[in-house]
Formats: sequence, C-alpha cells, structure tokens
Amino acid sequence: MLSDKLILKGDFSILKGKKIAVIGYGNQGYAQANIMRDNGLDVFIGNIQDEYAKRAEKDGFKVYDIPEAFERADVALMLIPDEVQPDVYKSVEGIIKKKDSFVLDFASGYNVASGFIKPPKNVDTVMVAPRMIGEGMVELHREGKGFPVLIGVANDSSGKAWDYAIAIATAIGAIGREGGVAVKSSFEEEALLDLLSEHTWAPLLVATFMAYFDVVTEKYGVSPEATILELYASGELGEIGKAMADFGLFEQLKFHSTTSQYGHLTRAERYYDMVKKVCEEEAEKIINGEFAKEWTLEQMAGKVVLNSLWKKFTNSKLAASEKELYKVLGRRKEG
Ligand code: NDP
Repeated sequence: MLSDKLILKGDFSILKGKKIAVIGYGNQGYAQANIMRDNGLDVFIGNIQDEYAKRAEKDGFKVYDIPEAFERADVALMLIPDEVQPDVYKSVEGIIKKKDSFVLDFASGYNVASGFIKPPKNVDTVMVAPRMIGEGMVELHREGKGFPVLIGVANDSSGKAWDYAIAIATAIGAIGREGGVAVKSSFEEEALLDLLSEHTWAPLLVATFMAYFDVVTEKYGVSPEATILELYASGELGEIGKAMADFGLFEQLKFHSTTSQYGHLTRAERYYDMVKKVCEEEAEKIINGEFAKEWTLEQMAGKVVLNSLWKKFTNSKLAASEKELYKVLGRRKEG
C-alpha cells in the first residue's frame, strides 16, 4: 500500500565546508541553526538588528543583515514567516542571480508552489519541511532522536538538489536517528497537505468545540468547567494524539471502552461523506490558487477579517470561561 518514498538515512558531507546562512532566528531558525552547528557545520544568521538578532548573538552566532548573509552564503535556509518571504526574496534576488551556484532551502512549500517566489535557474531550490515545531526539534536532538520531514526539489540546477535536500534533512537532525524519516514529496504536495489540514480537520475541531460548548452549557446547563475539562483542559486529548502517533489511529481506539468505540465508528461513518465534500472543496481552492488569492488580498487589506475573527472568537463564552478556569488552575496569570 505504501509508495517507495521513505528515506530513513542520509549524510550531510555535501554541506561540509559550505557557508550556510539561516535567514531568521525564530521558531525554525533557532532550532535548525543550533542543530546544524552542533553537527559541526559553518552556520551564521541573517536578520535585521533587533531582538531575534540579539538572541542569536547571545547564542554565539555571527549575525549579518539579510543581503550580506546572502552575499556570504553558499546555502541559505529561508526561515522567516511565509507571508514576508516574497518581499525579502525580492530584495536579495539580484545577489542570488549573480552566483555560479547556490542552494536555497524552504521549510514550507507555499511560496514556491503558489508562484510568489521563482528562484532563477542557477539555484538549487529545495524544500525540507519539518513536521515538528522548533522547540520539539531541539528537544529530540538532545535525546538523539529524529522527526519527520517532507522533502522536495523545485529546481535541480547542479544535478545534486536531492542530495542537498537529504543532507539538510540529516544536518537538522531529522533523519538517521530513531523516529526520523524523510518523505520524498514536492513543494505543491507539501502546500496542499499543510493547508488542507489548516482548512479541514483543525478548524472543524475548533468549530466543534465551540458548538459543543454552547449546546451543553446553554441548553443543558452543564458547567463551563466540566465542559472545558472534558474538551481539552484535562490533557486527555493530547494523550489521545500521542497514542495515535505511537500506536496508530485505529490501534489507539482499542484503548477506549467499547461504548466509545461504537460511538466513534458509527459517527465517523455518518460524517464521512459530509466531511469528504469539505475536503474536496477546500483542496480544490488550494490547488486552483483561490486560497492563495484570498489570503494575499486579506494581507493587502491589513488582515481585517483575521483581526475581527480573533476578536469574535476570543470574546466568546468559551474563551471567557477558559480564561477564568485557567486562572483558577494556575495556568494563566492574566490576559
Ligand atoms: P517565525 O515567525 O518564528 O520567524 C521569526 C523570524 O523571522 C525572526 O528572525 C524574524 O526577525 C524574522 N522576520 C519576521 N518578519 C520579517 C520580515 N518582514 N523581514 C525579515 N525577517 C522577518 O517563523 P517560523 O519559524 O514559524 O517559520 C519559518 C518557516 O518555517 C516558514 O516557512 C514556516 O512555514 C516553516 N515552518 C514552521 C514551523 C513551525 O513550527 N513554526 C514548522 C514547519 C515549518 P525580525 O522580526 O527581527 O525581522
């Protein structure tokens, strides 16, 4: 049933002696820069002189402004937020174009897949997209463990672009260690998978929690405390997620009571067609560029929809009750 796209081992000798610029020192930048340096590679940071740069300097990295970092680099990892990458890329495109050879790596497929960034022909354009937040990567690295990544190549100028993608995946601690795996994929596939999660099961979970909360508290008089603990505050949901990762979706279901198993499977059967339709519609909007257009227009308009939805959701009864509960439980001081 599986394709033959799994890679469990790699080596990063191709990166030895290369000057590697990590652009951005946030969630991913911090993690990838530190792990690669631990692995003996020549890493420096490209960032404007602000708090992130200070943190990088405190951690012992040389920090250059972004154009200078690109000037100095043989390999650059673009680890700044997706929405700012096109402008930053534009500001350094001239520098990249002049190089005989260059490797440009992304941790997400979005900008290249959507055509917002089109690196020139002389550049190996690769993707190493971790399925893990930066802090998690650093923790696993300390434990000698790996994590999953999707890898891809959009342009193979040197004929070695896949080798570079595998080398970066190895150098950032993803593969060659227990739990580590790279899946050969593409920028387009990664963008589809990532966005489709954000447009289907993840928001369906949020919407279900909101509706569930409103129904049981308003219609049946259940206390907000009991409801929020049931939904997510107890940590059971996190445990179930962990069991899914460790044992599998259906194997973990066997740990639940038979009443629960019956409820899960009968309702999954009932919801499948409805949710499949949602998945099809949302996937189509990602593939035909409709979502990318929607998000670009929203950013140009100053994120008005996003800001108003933040206001709406955080002013909901669920959010207000959560705030009080988390204060009582000592999980939140204010805000
Ligand atoms: P962060 O938001 O943590 O990035 C912060 C860094 O970006 C800082 O160094 C910040 O520096 C810099 N930055 C922010 N705005 C600008 C700007 N306008 N110009 C230049 N630099 C800027 O990003 P993430 O680490 O979350 O994401 C980086 C990439 O990794 C993205 O492609 C993302 O999709 C991908 N990714 C993220 C994961 C995650 O867990 N977060 C998981 C897998 C992939 P400053 O503000 O000083 O300019």
